[in-house]
Amino acid sequence: VIEVRHARKSYGAVEVLRDVSLKVRKGEIVAIIGPSGSGKSTLLRAINNLDPLTGGEVWLEDTQVNEALPPRRYEAHINRVRQDIGMVFQHFNLFPHLSVRGNITLAPMMLKGIGRKEADELAEQQLARVGLSDRVDFMPSQLSGGQKQRVAIARALAMKPKVMLFDEATSALDPELVEEVNLVMKQLAEEHMTMIIVTHEMGFAQDVCDRVLFMDRGLVVEQGPPDVVFRQPRHERTRAFLRKHL
Ligand code: ATP
Ligand code: MG
Repeated sequence: VIEVRHARKSYGAVEVLRDVSLKVRKGEIVAIIGPSGSGKSTLLRAINNLDPLTGGEVWLEDTQVNEALPPRRYEAHINRVRQDIGMVFQHFNLFPHLSVRGNITLAPMMLKGIGRKEADELAEQQLARVGLSDRVDFMPSQLSGGQKQRVAIARALAMKPKVMLFDEATSALDPELVEEVNLVMKQLAEEHMTMIIVTHEMGFAQDVCDRVLFMDRGLVVEQGPPDVVFRQPRHERTRAFLRKHL
């Protein structure tokens, strides 16, 4: 579904991605781990071109996400691409002035031209999926952090994306709220949603993911099935990181 080829990204003279390649197949769940500043968020944000690469290509099926297009065509192109890529950030980024329903129905109505009634039904379905059917008329300020994050997930799912990207979705939450969000992500995994998950929760990565990528200083140092990467890491940098984080 997603292919990143030889991704490079520089900020001025600093190279934060140095030739990163990644292929994610339909239904696959990939975790990205690595120290702070290694380029995990940059890579994730490059996938939907929020942070355009300075070199290399990103593909979503047959579409090159970061194709160079004139501004007018780019807008239509990127809107189409982003409908297929759901993204959930560390900070929930809900629209504070909209209800839960309003947050979830906005993009389907604006971008897909779905009518109000159908969008409301969609919102109800997605809220049921994250266990928040009874919060449809709440405002974001009336929700806990875990509930906000589940609404953010429901909002992304309402676009029926082909892939979901999670960037440390639980790291801003109080410890007692982490599990409810992890449960929703586990449930998506059981439904074979294609996912790329940046996480510092090694236990979660081990339980849920088919493949783990360890990044350090802008490179994918090693990748493989969780059992192999966590139990028999081949590289000293991976071992050093895991000693601190397992
Ligand atoms: P963390 O685990 O802390 O979230 P990360 O692996 O997600 O780290 P990135 O956010 O991708 O790391 O950052 C990679 C590097 O790029 C860092 O050294 C960071 O300082 C740098 N960087 C990120 N965004 C910018 C920017 N807008 N301008 C300049 N440098 C940036
Ligand atoms: Mg990050």
